[in-house]
Amino acid sequence: MFRLVKTLVIVAACLLICSNASDPNYRLNTTIKPSKYAISIMPFFDTGDERAFTFNGDVTITFTSDEPINQIKLHSQDLTFSSDNITISNAAGTVPLNETKALEFDSAYTFAHINLQGALQAGVEYTLRILYEGPIREDLTGFYRNNYIEKGVKKWLGATQMEPTHARKVFPCFDEPELKAVFTLTIMRPASYKPSLTNTKIAATTDLSNGYVREDFHPTPRMSTYLVAFLVSELEAQYYSSNNSMEFGVFARPEATNQTEYAFDFGKRVVDALGDYFGVNYYSTNNQLKLDHIALPNFRAGAMENWGLVKYREALLLYVPEESGPYYKYRVAQIVAHETTHMWFGNLVTCHWWSNTWLNEGFANYFQDYITALIEPEVGSGNILVTGSVYAALDADESPSSPPITNDNVSSPAEISEHFGTITYQKAGSVIRMMHHLIGDEAFRIGLNSYLTANQFQAGYPELMYSALEKGVNTTNSLALYPGHTIGDIMSSWISQAGHPVLDVQVNYEAGSVTLTQRRFYINGSHTSDETYKIPITYTTGDNPNFVNTKPAFIMEGKTHTFNIHNFTQNWIIFNLQETGIYRVKYDSQSLQMIIKALKGGELEKIHYLNRAKIINDLFAFYFADEVSFSTLNDALLYLQSETDFNVWYAAIRGLNKLRSRYLGTDTVADIIDAHTLHLLHNTIAYLGFEERESDDFETTRNRMQVLELACKLDHTECVEHFVAKFRNFVDNGVEIPPSLRPVSYCTGLRYGTGADYDFMWHRMSTTNVANEARLIGEVLGCTTDEASLKKFLVSMLEENSPIMSQDLTVPLSGVVGNHSHVHIVLDGLKNNFTLWSSIYPSMDTVFNAVAGALRTEAEINEFESWLNSCTECGDKDGALATLASGRANAMWVESHKTELLNAFKGHAVALPSSLALIVLCLVVLRLN
Ligand SMILES: [Zn+2]
Repeated sequence: MFRLVKTLVIVAACLLICSNASDPNYRLNTTIKPSKYAISIMPFFDTGDERAFTFNGDVTITFTSDEPINQIKLHSQDLTFSSDNITISNAAGTVPLNETKALEFDSAYTFAHINLQGALQAGVEYTLRILYEGPIREDLTGFYRNNYIEKGVKKWLGATQMEPTHARKVFPCFDEPELKAVFTLTIMRPASYKPSLTNTKIAATTDLSNGYVREDFHPTPRMSTYLVAFLVSELEAQYYSSNNSMEFGVFARPEATNQTEYAFDFGKRVVDALGDYFGVNYYSTNNQLKLDHIALPNFRAGAMENWGLVKYREALLLYVPEESGPYYKYRVAQIVAHETTHMWFGNLVTCHWWSNTWLNEGFANYFQDYITALIEPEVGSGNILVTGSVYAALDADESPSSPPITNDNVSSPAEISEHFGTITYQKAGSVIRMMHHLIGDEAFRIGLNSYLTANQFQAGYPELMYSALEKGVNTTNSLALYPGHTIGDIMSSWISQAGHPVLDVQVNYEAGSVTLTQRRFYINGSHTSDETYKIPITYTTGDNPNFVNTKPAFIMEGKTHTFNIHNFTQNWIIFNLQETGIYRVKYDSQSLQMIIKALKGGELEKIHYLNRAKIINDLFAFYFADEVSFSTLNDALLYLQSETDFNVWYAAIRGLNKLRSRYLGTDTVADIIDAHTLHLLHNTIAYLGFEERESDDFETTRNRMQVLELACKLDHTECVEHFVAKFRNFVDNGVEIPPSLRPVSYCTGLRYGTGADYDFMWHRMSTTNVANEARLIGEVLGCTTDEASLKKFLVSMLEENSPIMSQDLTVPLSGVVGNHSHVHIVLDGLKNNFTLWSSIYPSMDTVFNAVAGALRTEAEINEFESWLNSCTECGDKDGALATLASGRANAMWVESHKTELLNAFKGHAVALPSSLALIVLCLVVLRLN
């Protein structure tokens, strides 16, 4: 599954996982081994009668039990059946059900218990058949409905989303990943619909006389319940290839099939490239498999890797260069590569339980960018392994409550969903990348091939992964440099332990020796603990810079390690090359000064851009953790005036935005930070310019996007004038804006525009056929400063045929609270229309959290907290109260750091525009008094 970042719910979710002990009663703990399911589904869409949006189901499960049992416990959620609908039989005949209590539902744990008159024998094959009915749901889980408008007509379709625990909403089943079976599907679809799609090819088609067509499909490979998928729709494929029955297609609404060419081209190339890399051809695992990618108008996750039938949000699969910038091309490539990787990691070999979801998602997260870098180098995904994954992983992993990658505290559906988070995706992906650099490509490929072939159609465990990689290591002798270490020991110190280290570097320049000390890094500097990690250490020096060799010099396993460097002069030394290791590096002040001197003194190009980015990214973290002063951070930031690299600016803008966000609400200090940021950006803005150029590569285009979006947000005069003019020309004269400049133009235009401009963009979002454009507009509508429009936007999902679909329910809310000066509008809306808002959002906790997370000043926090405490109909407020507590801690942090920040600017007052420089000087004088 491809997870979209849900910043709005992070705190609530952490509370869930971090404070409650996991309840083992959610597990089946069964002796039953299912081997086959035959599932038949007949859906009813807008029939206008009581059957509308329901389906009839018929499942037959073949199974054995390891021990005699007189009760069958299986999952079933929101499905309707009675004991009369149940038949159990074996070769000898029908098995009678318990006469007094044949069937019990346990809705809290989503189980059905079928009680038998006698006992089923161990080792004997039985079949369990259940006829049932269920809803075609609205919540985008299980078997759910979608609609879209085509030539003024509303079209309905039925799609599925089973992972992780929704298969039980579609058919009674043993819904745990390790209980794999072969599934044979039959779908009855309305005759006016296109042939249905499932995991495998169609085996037979029969016209029924009742307006339906019956389609029988080939059996699937042996697989987990969460991978079952089907689609009943009128979607079509403009591009379909059936090369020697290795079928491959991309399906979309008929009006959008002209946007599928890139996904088709890249998707075919990536499935071949991954098959070559893993040494297992996709089509070789089952001769009835095909591979379809489906663009759905409404889809909760980003995408889902159902075996042979991958489903996506439209905006993540469809791409037209004229309408979407190169970033969207990268995003399509990345997500198609992610889902395709799952065909091996997840589908062929599956995590045994959700505690080790990383065995699926960590590999998908790594290969989404690694394989893309090999076959589509122009989109720069090799660097995104660092700036996208490592950075996110470090941030998610810096609090005492961060879980380990293997998380044994996962049982309930809510805990399972929550473990589909940054630790499972980006951190595991980054650990896998670190191991790849450690053991080398040959050992890595041999190891992965061994894991996939030895465990195919079975469950995967971390130990099986370690032993497979060990095989690669032994074949290539690739850990010979590190005697006493095995890949399993090294890798498990990162997989089973929470957190990550910071490496303290102390250089003795006289002796030419370095002392390294490791400790777990906490963003709250007052925490300490004793974990040690087996750290692959890479480094290079200014005497002989080599950032290309990422093979570690040694593995550090103790708390401290001292070593000598031959022929080391008074020069800089840098650790963690290209950030191949998932650890921060903190240099002693002399060593840091040498690096900063090199960066400022024309040696910038000698230091790899990913390490220049790392210096900045780590210093921001150390500043927020109270480990370095603002003046130390700022001393490094000043070098950015001669920096033009996208990745370094990505790190810098990330840090500057966090800094700005912390100080929001403290008017003057925030203004000073903004002015200083613009000063740092000045040369880069001039270098990149305000328009696209023919010579632009992918990273240059993205750099311009990120730099100008920040510059305009901070009211850079030229930037604002340029993009307001562009926006006016677009709205008033119909001159389209190049795709990469649309985000900044639309947002700036709306910010300096009127309610009429908001209406214009809303209309464009409602009528565009391009999902990326609709998504982009949804993200920037909150930029308007017209209060009436903002109020309208907050409840816009209620409009008839609103382009804000249920998958994007929180988009208006995050758009509006994203601007601190509009938080009061959300707060008023929430208080005055509570009943209406409760009808919009399935969980008000999400809303409370979004609001709480946007508050900065003590006064704002107090006001919201007292309202929350007095609200009797608000339900669960724990997440919001925790967010408010961290907001209060932030306000205190700001209070205690303000003076130091202003003092740091004192020495650089000339760097600011003169009026602000004056303010700084006055403030410094005032504060110091
Ligand atoms: Zn995934």
